[in-house]
Amino acid sequence: MLQLAEIFYSIQGEGSWAGTPAVFVRLAGCNLACDFCDTDYSLKFFASVDDVVAQVSSVGADCPMVILTGGEPLAQTETPALVEALRADGRRVHIESNGTIFTELPRDVWLCVSPKERVDPRMAQRADEAKLIVDGRIPEEHFPLFVSKSTVFLQPEGNKPRNVELAIDYVKRYPQRFRLSLQTHKFVGIR
Ligand code: SF4
Repeated sequence: MLQLAEIFYSIQGEGSWAGTPAVFVRLAGCNLACDFCDTDYSLKFFASVDDVVAQVSSVGADCPMVILTGGEPLAQTETPALVEALRADGRRVHIESNGTIFTELPRDVWLCVSPKERVDPRMAQRADEAKLIVDGRIPEEHFPLFVSKSTVFLQPEGNKPRNVELAIDYVKRYPQRFRLSLQTHKFVGIR
């Protein structure tokens, strides 16, 4: 059984796919404990893989995009089975991960890695998108992991003005390599 926090239909607010409708499947639990984490990923209910696929259909109808997030979605052993079942149901699967747990993923799965502390280099290599959180400083220690990526997002933690200022300044200084990612869903009060 999968451990879940919530399943809901909303809009992806961040990164490359900002503005795209998506069903969010928030898996419960995380293998890290970041100071700034404001996500409630506590366990709310259990569900089988088939139940999750059915709930995705129920809330999102024919929405193509499903985002597996957390917590850390790759911390659960049944997540690869969920990925397969969603793909078989015709969904485009995205995963938002901290990149610490190596997992083989089909090529058509979009992987966003947002490093917090340690990262498995294979996950950094596999990432379709790197999203680095700016929390009082630019996390330059993670840059070497993503040298092969054409674009790295800098995302101000909590949309706080100081973090926004730092991120904008850095992106403007290195426009070939960095882009700003804002949590746009928070501007309009949606999850
Ligand atoms: S990795 Fe993400 S979900 Fe886990 S504690 Fe850190 S910020 Fe929160």
